[in-house]
This record gives sequence, structure tokens and C-alpha cells, in this order.
Amino acid sequence: MNIGFIGLGNMGAPMAANLATAGHTVTGYDMATPAPEGVTMADDAASAARGADVVITMLPNGTILQSVAADIIPAMTPGAVLLDCSTVDVDSARAVAAMAADHGCKALDAPVSGGIGGASAGTLTFMVGGPDDALATAMPLFDVMGGRTVHCGPAGNGQAAKICNNMILGATMAVTCEAFALADKLGLDRQAMYDVVSTSSGQSWSLTTYCPAPGVGPQSPADNGYKPGFAAELMLKDLGLALQAAEAVDAPTPVGTEALHQYTVFVEQEDGRGKDFSALLPRLAGRGRD
Ligand code: NAD
Repeated sequence: MNIGFIGLGNMGAPMAANLATAGHTVTGYDMATPAPEGVTMADDAASAARGADVVITMLPNGTILQSVAADIIPAMTPGAVLLDCSTVDVDSARAVAAMAADHGCKALDAPVSGGIGGASAGTLTFMVGGPDDALATAMPLFDVMGGRTVHCGPAGNGQAAKICNNMILGATMAVTCEAFALADKLGLDRQAMYDVVSTSSGQSWSLTTYCPAPGVGPQSPADNGYKPGFAAELMLKDLGLALQAAEAVDAPTPVGTEALHQYTVFVEQEDGRGKDFSALLPRLAGRGRD
């Protein structure tokens, strides 16, 4: 296929390179990064989109996505698919889908989980919102870039699934870190706590796959000085999107709101920026309640 790829940062560059390696013709655009292996760079976003069967975007946020979409959709071939893989707010995803439909194009919102490692290895999970025919067109590309693709419903539902997942992730990581810090003060060995909880009802992905305690459980960013991994500021972004969506539909999120507060303080008032999101544990360990 002819693919346009806009936003070639930490995630977009390896995804575009994997598509080129798989034999697709990839034309990229990013104002700040060099060409990934096998990708030809265009002078602007509209040029990368012109004539493409599928245009992929992998951008920082919904405001940038909407402005890029306004540039590229008029240049796209009618019937072509705009496949946004960024994590953005549900409203931006739905606005872009409407803009695409107005120009006779199709749109999918397909945020990912799996991080930079998954992007390089081609093992991302895609959660997809949008019509069946667009999904069928994009499926061979999902198969190259990812391991699993879940169709979540109409436009915006991929983003809805992503923020629900990451609200659970932020809250379970925060409380898992609290539990380790509490165990320390109670004189309970961290390894003993792990051995019990990892096979008990407090078990979660945050504990058994991404344990925030160094030297306990599988290798994780905690064993690498809390170098990300998944940065605390990206968790803060995703919790912000979850709470923005919850406010828009009047859904109660008391625990998600508290997790957002914890990451806001950590990233914006303390030294959390640039650290892994599991570094809430050293932040709490040894502190008092205030
Ligand atoms: P990044 O900052 O490394 O890459 C974004 C790229 O977009 C940059 O290269 C930037 O120059 C480019 N860009 C910005 N404005 C542009 C414009 N107007 N036109 C063209 N290019 C433009 O970010 P990333 O880590 O690659 O993340 C991309 C998206 O993926 C984000 O929405 C993020 O939330 C999501 N995501 C990231 C991870 C992760 O672990 N990094 C995991 C899952 C999802």
C-alpha cells in the first residue's frame, strides 16, 4: 500500500520503519525528526498524505491532531483511510472522523498499548473505533505494527477503551506503590508482600508484570533506576484525558481523580518528570502521612 505517516517520534518512527520493511511504500512527515529506515520524507504533511491509501498519524495531542487533520484531509484521495494511532481526547477523535466523512474519507481512531518496545518489535495492541470497511483496509497494517487488534465500536471508542485502561493502570500502580511503602513501615519484607499479593486478590498487572519495587518480581523500570518505560508525565496526560471524558459525560471517578492528583503533584511540583510512572514508590517510601 501507499502510506503517509505523520509524526515520526519515539513511537511513529519504529512503526513507519516496520511498515517499510514489510514492503509498503511509506512517505513520512515530521518537522523535527530524521527519516526512519526505508521512509521517504515529504516537505509537508499534505504532501505526505496526497495519493496515499492510508494516512497514519502519531502525534502528541488532540489539538495538534485536529490541526494536522485540517491540513491533510483536503489533500487525501476520497475513500482513503485516516488512521490516527495517537492517544487523544475522545472529542478530538470524533471531530476528526466527522471532518474525514465530510471529505468522503474514512477515519479510524486506533490508540496503542505496548510502548516504544512494542512499537519497535511490532507487537502493539490496537484498540480501534470506526467503521468496519476502514478497519478491513487497515488490518494488514495493524498486523505488521501490532500483535492484537480489538474493534471497540464507532469513532472515538478506541480512545474510550485506552483511557479506561490507563485510568485503571494509574490507580492500581499508585495503590500498589502505597502498599509497598506501608509494608516497609509495618516491617513486612517487600519480597514476602510480593509473594503473597501476586497470588492473592490484590494481584494486578502493576504488581506482577511491572513491579514498582526494585529486586522484586520480574525485571521492570524499578530495576533500572526508574528510567522510563512509561513516563510519569505520559500517565498524567492519560489520566487527564480520562477525567476530561468523565466530566463530559458526568461519570463519577473519585479514585481516578485521586490518581490524577497524585501524578500531578509528582510531575508538576516534585521531581517526577522524566521518571517512570512506577517511581511513586521511592516518592512515598520513608515519608509520613503529610
Ligand atoms: P513524540 O513526542 O516522541 O513524537 C511525536 C512527534 O510528533 C514528534 O516527533 C513531533 O515532532 C511530531 N509532531 C508534532 N507536531 C507535529 C505536526 N504539526 N506535524 C508533524 N509532526 C508533528 O511522542 P511519542 O512517544 O511518539 O507518542 C506519540 C503518541 O503516542 C502520543 O499521543 C502518546 O500519548 C502515544 N503513546 C505513547 C507511548 C509511549 O510509550 N511513548 C505509548 C502509548 C501511546
